[in-house]
Amino acid sequence: MVSRVIPVETFDLVIFGGTGDLARRKILPGLFRRFCAGQMEDGARIIGAARSDLDTAAYREMVREAVIEFGRGGTCDIGTMQGFLDTLHYVRVDARGEQGWQSLADMMLPDRVRAFYFSVGPGLFGDLAKRLHQYGMADASCRIVVEKPFGRDLQSARDLNAVLAQHFDETQIYRIDHYLGKETVQNLMVVRFGNMLFEPLWNSQYVDHIQITVAETVGVGGRGEYYDRSGAMRDMLQNHLMQLLCLIAMEPPAKFDPDAVRDEKLKVIRALGHIAPEEIVRGQYMKDGENGSYLEDANNPRSTTESFVALKAHISNWRWAGTPFYLRTGKRLKARTSEIAVVFKDAPHSIFGAKAGRHRNILTIRLQPNEGMELGVTIKEPGPGGMRLLDVPLDMSFAEALGEDSAEIPDAYERLIMDVIRGNQTLFMRGDEVEAAWKWTDPIIAAWEDRGDQPIPYETGSSGPDDALMLMHRDGRRWREIMI
Ligand code: NAD
Repeated sequence: MVSRVIPVETFDLVIFGGTGDLARRKILPGLFRRFCAGQMEDGARIIGAARSDLDTAAYREMVREAVIEFGRGGTCDIGTMQGFLDTLHYVRVDARGEQGWQSLADMMLPDRVRAFYFSVGPGLFGDLAKRLHQYGMADASCRIVVEKPFGRDLQSARDLNAVLAQHFDETQIYRIDHYLGKETVQNLMVVRFGNMLFEPLWNSQYVDHIQITVAETVGVGGRGEYYDRSGAMRDMLQNHLMQLLCLIAMEPPAKFDPDAVRDEKLKVIRALGHIAPEEIVRGQYMKDGENGSYLEDANNPRSTTESFVALKAHISNWRWAGTPFYLRTGKRLKARTSEIAVVFKDAPHSIFGAKAGRHRNILTIRLQPNEGMELGVTIKEPGPGGMRLLDVPLDMSFAEALGEDSAEIPDAYERLIMDVIRGNQTLFMRGDEVEAAWKWTDPIIAAWEDRGDQPIPYETGSSGPDDALMLMHRDGRRWREIMI
């Protein structure tokens, strides 16, 4: 199978924060792979803009090292690497002062797509937006890309939206949630809305419950003090897990167009119901040999911030009333894995008798590792000796199904950046979506703060606190194993 790569229009992409961690680990290696794939037209330019005192030659060297260290490879020889480096330029810019802005403005070329990636802390968004206008770089067709976190509560998200709205129209603003750029996540929409098989069953009549797990094995490490101001709810659940929830639960949009898709996602968020205290479990990982406890990593012995959260959510609409959605995410867990599991109800009556056991169809959508989908179906255990039932997976691993082409599947950042250049906002969060997500999350956080809830300690390498297991056991259900 040969994948088609359609080059995007010639562009100038300015990366504010172009020397930072995110730029070096994700953005630039991603761009390199798109270059190798032939998706960047001749003349496209990537302009790093940051505070570091570098010139273009030193920046190119920094990027070359970053691509080698963090890239996923790519069919690329030395000549291609040089070709990519030639697209790079660097300007030293201070977002809070005048330094560098005129030089950057002088570099801008007309008649091409112009995009500005704000890969800096949100405290600088307003400064960048203002100066882009002041120096005449922001015309009505340019685009800006902003990173998470988009606020830490409803008020701060509104403030950020307002700051950006002073200078840019909503159609110019691309709020990244890299989970939406994952191949499987987009495939989820195709599986749902491109097949007749699933959609008729996609409701509370046939679906018992849905589980979404995003598990990490790492702790908060060097980001401890930053993380301690957010926690799992703000850092992961409010954005990534809620986006997955929206895609799995939304009604079919009339067409695959940015506003049609985002309107449907917004309706899901707005239909999320109240969560009772016993429907949430928060945890903090404990010390494990050489690895410090959360409290040590956060450098805050009295921290009540959670490194794990599990909750049971309800969507109050016709499709989903009565089908709970169990969401969990945490650090220092058993395995690094992200998956969505749609657990269908039991067959209404078993003609095989009680001994055959209870069997269920489960559709599992794996986001990482090994992106793919798996549908568990019940079959007869082969051989004589009566009718014994067995669950086997109908497996659709992308790596197996697509063979060598799977290596060419762009990672989330690559795809999303190319979408920015194409001007396609479908996989980006709209301002009202982000605000609605905070509107749901804020009272949950406020409630546990008011109650003075303490997170429950859990062991490194576990599935989180036992109370999280109980959250489902109480309902006669259980979480799927966290495993690769
Ligand atoms: P970083 O601290 O590694 O880099 C910050 C960059 O901003 C540097 O290039 C620095 O020169 C530049 N900068 C800082 N102050 C500036 C100023 N006054 N004027 C001009 N440039 C200035 O940060 P990072 O980890 O790359 O994160 C950047 C943004 O992306 C943050 O908002 C972060 O929350 C978000 N983010 C990061 C990651 C990640 O994996 N690192 C993941 C998701 C989101």
